Order: sequence, then C-alpha cells, then structure tokens
Amino acid sequence: MRRAVTALLVVVLGAGAAAAQTPRYSLLLKGGHVVDPKNGVDAVMDVAVANGKVAAVAPAIEAAQAERVVNVAGLYVVPGLIDLHAHVFIGTAPDSYLSNGDVGAHADSHAFRSGQTTIVDVGGPGWRNFDLFKTNIVARARTRVLAFLNIVGHGMSGGPYEQDLADMDPKLTAQRIRANKDVLVGVKVAHYQGAEWAPVTRAVEAGRQADVPVMIDFGGNDPPQSLDDLLNKHLRPGDIFTHVYAHVRGRTPIVNAQGQVEPFVLAARKRGVVFDVGHGGGSFLFRQAVPATKQGFYPDVISTDLHTGSMNSGMKDLLNVMSKMLDLGMPLQDTIRASTTKPAALVRRPDLGHLGVGAEADIAVLGLRKGDFAFVDSGGWRMPGTQKLECEMTVKGGQVMWDLNGRSHTLWSAQ
Ligand SMILES: [Zn+2]
Repeated sequence: MRRAVTALLVVVLGAGAAAAQTPRYSLLLKGGHVVDPKNGVDAVMDVAVANGKVAAVAPAIEAAQAERVVNVAGLYVVPGLIDLHAHVFIGTAPDSYLSNGDVGAHADSHAFRSGQTTIVDVGGPGWRNFDLFKTNIVARARTRVLAFLNIVGHGMSGGPYEQDLADMDPKLTAQRIRANKDVLVGVKVAHYQGAEWAPVTRAVEAGRQADVPVMIDFGGNDPPQSLDDLLNKHLRPGDIFTHVYAHVRGRTPIVNAQGQVEPFVLAARKRGVVFDVGHGGGSFLFRQAVPATKQGFYPDVISTDLHTGSMNSGMKDLLNVMSKMLDLGMPLQDTIRASTTKPAALVRRPDLGHLGVGAEADIAVLGLRKGDFAFVDSGGWRMPGTQKLECEMTVKGGQVMWDLNGRSHTLWSAQ
C-alpha cells in the first residue's frame, strides 16, 4: 500500500514538473492600450489567451509564460468588433438582391481585415431559405455569422417578394428562430412600401414569441408613416431603429427642418429604443449626423450595412464608419462600446464583445492614425478629418486571422 502511494506521488510530481515547462498561454499581446468598456478597462495592459479564451488581463504578464508573444505597444487592444448590420448572404440565384444573390459581400473577405470577428446579417434570409443560408454561409465562414431573420419568408429577395404581406408570418418566423438560437438573434423589417403597419406589428409579434429584438429599416412608405408612432408605440425597449442619420423618401428624418433632434426621438431613446448607424450606400448624411451629434445624439450602435454598393462608396468598412464618428466628436471609448459591448448585449451573447477572463478570445488590435483624412457621406459630400482607425491584427477564438505587419511571425533570417 505504501509503495502504491509513493508511486502515485512520483507520477503527480512528474506531471507537475512537465506542466511548469509548458507555456501557460498560447498568445500574449504585450504593452497595448486595452479598451474594454464592459469591464471598465482603459489602460496599458497585457492580454493573455489560452484554449481560445481570454485567460488574463494584467499590467505585466511574464513573456516566458506564453508560447507566442506579440508586441502591441502604441496600439489599442479592444474586443473583436461586431457588425450588427451587414449583408453576407451571397449566392448565384439571378436577381435575388441580398438573399442568395450577388449584392451582398463575402464575410471572410471583409471581417478580419477591419477588426471584425462577428458579422450579423440582418434580413438576408427568411424562414423559407434559412437552411440554405446556414449551409452556404454560416457553416463555411470563419467569421462568426449571426442573423436577424426577415419577417418575409423569402427574405430580402428584392422586388415583389418584399411587398408580399401574405409571406410575413410571425409564427413560422418565431418557430425558426427558437429552433436556431445559436445563429438567429432577431427579426428584420425592411423596404415595405405600402401604408399598412402589418410588417412592423408582425415582426414585433415574432420577436415577442421568440424573445428576440427587432430591427427596423423604415421608410419608402406611401403615404409616409409616423416615425413617432413607430418609435414610441410599436417598438419595445431593446428594439433597433437602423439608418439613424438617413433622410430618404417617405421617412421623417430624426433632425427636423429647424435643425433640432425631434423630441419624440429623444423620448424613444429614453424608453430604451436603440439607434443604429447602418451607414449603407444611401443612409448617412452629414446634414443629419452633424447637427444630431452636435446636440449630443450619438448612435448606440455603429454598423456598416455592408453590401457591394456601400463598401465601394462612402461607407468602406466598419473602421471607416467608426473613424467618421470619432471625427464627429464621439469619444474613442464610446465608438468601441458601440461596436462591441452594445451589439453583443443586444444579441444576448455575454461571451462576446468584451475581454473579461473566460470570454471568447476575439480581439482587435487597432492603430489610431493622426493626419489629414477625409470622409464622404451618402450625398457625396466630403468632410475633412484628423483621425483614422486602422486594423493591425485580428484574433478570433485565440487564432490570429489578420496581421497587417506580421507582428505575430518570426523574423526572417538568411540562416
Ligand atoms: Zn441593410
């Protein structure tokens, strides 16, 4: 018996000695300025990763404890960015717009190079074609792809599909969401041109049944509907109004003819309605954004409305939209919160959008360049700016997915 105990001790001690030689962390980002709004961190800190999760955040973590050490001094280290409004349901169906058509963008071609680890497709699929979206897009992307299901069964297929009230079924929409909560995180309404409130009321009903938020792309209704009624009668706290700085046909802008943010918009924010940028190709006007931000009306969420139209015009990518907000006076910490912590909370993913110990090791390392830059809005106007964010590195689940200057690589040597 005594011999058996001794043997066991030797085994345990032996294992301990071996463990001491194995690095504790797979990756250590050293010396960066960590901005983690959820955990109240805004200071120079080291960030260590193990097993795909954040393992430690501290002022000085010993380099010897990590397999790979990356010097990120002079850069910001923030949670992996989350784009709450994008369109990535690409496919080959002819004339199918943002639902298995050719107007959306390829998730992995855009996400990592601009610091994003999660993209939310809003309204590409509906309950009828969600399985195709899951197979072709979600399962094949290295980017984490989540989605708001369109209240239209055929999704954002364009043309008459999006005008078909008979294809807007709250029960079937909610059922599909409840069965796929790992991917489906909300309900979307967009592009309806009729006078009826049915698309909105049915989407909110689906959201209620599935216990998820609703995102509304409002406007184009003929005759126009009341924005006050939408924000204060139909939407619930936590529901999202996108394209906040747009002024499109058939939609009341948030800044009125007197240059003031409408009091009913302020009232809606007070009751918890969420305001999202959703820049897009036609939904961000300095004419709206400048007076609104001067009056302190900054967005709750910063998102792109990524598609082939927006990415090649004033929008470009999420970092460009965040830079635009920075140059409009939004503090850096708030732009980070609006593209990490806030969207993660809205889609109820507490493992995302922050760098607390145990969170997914989704991390963006950003440079903040100072110089002479300019930004363009959807009306074609140009605005000079002095700050621009640039993506230096993106880490997802502990894996380096983008590394602009090869910081995580070993220096080449002729030997
Ligand atoms: Zn959109």
